[in-house]
Amino acid sequence: MFKFLKRLRGKKEEAQPQPDAVAAKAIPEPEVGAPVAPPAPATEVPASVTAKAPEPEKEIDPQPTFDTPIEDVAEPAEEPEPTKEPEPKAEVVEVELPKRSLSDGIRSLFSSNVDIEDLEDILLLADFGVEASVEITESLRKAASKSGANSDAELRLLLKELLVEKLHRDDLQLNLSDGKLPYVFLVVGVNGAGKTTTIGKLAKWLRDGEWEVVLGAADTFRAAAVDQLATWAERSGAGIVKPELDGQDPASVAYQTVELAIKNDADIAIVDTAGRLQNKKDLMDELGKIRRAVEKQAQINEVLLVIDATTGQNAINQAKAFTEVADVSGIVMTKLDGTAKGGIVYTIQQQLDLPVKLVGVGEGVNDFAFFSAEEFANGLVARKPGN
Ligand code: GDP
Ligand code: MG
Repeated sequence: MFKFLKRLRGKKEEAQPQPDAVAAKAIPEPEVGAPVAPPAPATEVPASVTAKAPEPEKEIDPQPTFDTPIEDVAEPAEEPEPTKEPEPKAEVVEVELPKRSLSDGIRSLFSSNVDIEDLEDILLLADFGVEASVEITESLRKAASKSGANSDAELRLLLKELLVEKLHRDDLQLNLSDGKLPYVFLVVGVNGAGKTTTIGKLAKWLRDGEWEVVLGAADTFRAAAVDQLATWAERSGAGIVKPELDGQDPASVAYQTVELAIKNDADIAIVDTAGRLQNKKDLMDELGKIRRAVEKQAQINEVLLVIDATTGQNAINQAKAFTEVADVSGIVMTKLDGTAKGGIVYTIQQQLDLPVKLVGVGEGVNDFAFFSAEEFANGLVARKPGN
């Protein structure tokens, strides 16, 4: 369904017998400063670069042909100047990544037949908020009386259509398609929301599609947070940049992460951040510093705000605080599996006017999905045993 652009790699190793300065430099060496895990399959990376390099030998023809007078070629033949070619641009190719389905993870709103009289209360309990609960109930009532729908199945279908119409947006896709590599994602949100887990899931999913991934452990205040990200990096085969010391400036880790991504010709760098929200100014300063550090070398493609769906209306306040200080481009809504409060997705999207791009539906590596209004609405109106 979703098409993304990544670097072309592999299959070109045969073409590498001209290791010139550019290619040799492209092989990453661990920085003295930052303890850097060996970038997993980095050996493939320079291949795409060297494969693009011109082959000077072809131009030095020992037997000049008749139509090239010797005096004309004498000078340039000495130095074939293969390096005049513009910066080796990343050869990008369009790829599809495996889809993850979300419908199984969403709890249905209904434990029995749909009754419009109860709907407002049900929506309220599911965290749709007062305004939306009234509005959706009224819309359903009108649509039902217009179409004459009154059976359980008909009402479910109408409600689903209503929700899809309200939730659909054109900007739900992750920004992995502009071809300006490496892509850089910053992941923000309060502690415990699911940032590191989400990064781990994304890293694994991208690595499965043979993307070169570098993670940055810029949540430097808790050693456990760094270890947790390192475990995900190991599991998925992503590179990682860790702080040297607890509490090291997160911006320097972010900087080194992008630096390593560029060195490795990686497709994407994902930077984990600390979620301290005790003081808005501190948070703003810290995220601003991280942003500027990244932007010294690359552009930021996504600032993903991770929100725990089980925190209910509180999530809205958190989200507002973050959107005021970070230029958030999309929401990741986690822990939808454990909650009957799926309405928070609706509320967040409407109130913040930001797309919910990803959802987490469990702790496992595959338990996430791109948000789809259709699948989400399906899950909410589904008839499921045990709901
Ligand atoms: P962080 O502090 O924001 O980095 O949060 P973590 O990634 O460490 O996650 C906090 C806890 O939430 C961990 O126990 C995760 O396993 C759990 N978690 C994260 N995402 C999900 C999810 O989608 N569903 C469930 N059930 N648990 C999740
Ligand atoms: Mg974390």
